[in-house]
Amino acid sequence: MLKALQRVSTLALSLFLALLCHTAWAGDTVFQYSTIDALLAGLYDGDMSLHDLKSQGDFGLGTLNGLDGELIVLEGQAYHVTAGGKATIPPDPSKTPFATVSFFQEDTILKLDKISSLSALNEAVAKGLPSKNHFYAIRIDGQFSSVKTRAIPKQNEPYAPLASVVKEQVIVQFSGEGTLVGYYSPSFVKGVNVPGFHWHFLTKDRQGGGHVLDCVMSPTVARMDTLLTFSVRLPDDKKFNSLDLTKDKGKELHAVEKDPMKKK
Ligand code: ZN
Repeated sequence: MLKALQRVSTLALSLFLALLCHTAWAGDTVFQYSTIDALLAGLYDGDMSLHDLKSQGDFGLGTLNGLDGELIVLEGQAYHVTAGGKATIPPDPSKTPFATVSFFQEDTILKLDKISSLSALNEAVAKGLPSKNHFYAIRIDGQFSSVKTRAIPKQNEPYAPLASVVKEQVIVQFSGEGTLVGYYSPSFVKGVNVPGFHWHFLTKDRQGGGHVLDCVMSPTVARMDTLLTFSVRLPDDKKFNSLDLTKDKGKELHAVEKDPMKKK
């Protein structure tokens, strides 16, 4: 009887440990839907709902179907920023054509001095990354003297490639408190996600934001979550299945990401 009890408790303990390990492992995953090259090619409609996306992470960024503005996921809540910079809460059945999410568990804190530009921010955070070969989810709450963001207006079919559609982006300037939601991805992710940094911004009152083109902020800290597992879910529809994704779209991505006012 005693032995049987012992066996049961050993089994319970190993089950508990397995669950614990599973939880730790799951928390280390960066999940993305579709690929950046598919988005660059004009695949602006996906079949993943925000409800399903949020089951893969409580923190992240992306866009909505029709390339309708910018998506931010923060503390489990999705925000939709439309062209003009206004943020609202999108309905759960809304779908995304491209998004990256993870369950945010900070494991490194990096002190940041005053930041005078987006490239200065990227440089400062890059210096503090434990490795350039891992993925990182990065959260920065701060006081911004300015944040320049963009959001692209919803597109209608037939869709043009992102490099030409981006010319329609609406640029907005914010100041005050807010949060940067960002990812660092290693350069070997080229074609699948955005190598280097990708930042979206949300104001403290959660009423505005967008894709970050530039920022100036007071000293603060960056909270980073190292992500060792990379999970990609690919669309399975006629359009994605027949896309030509063999070409290098690095230049197009650079044109889409940069501030149109800056030369480099
Ligand atoms: Zn973006």
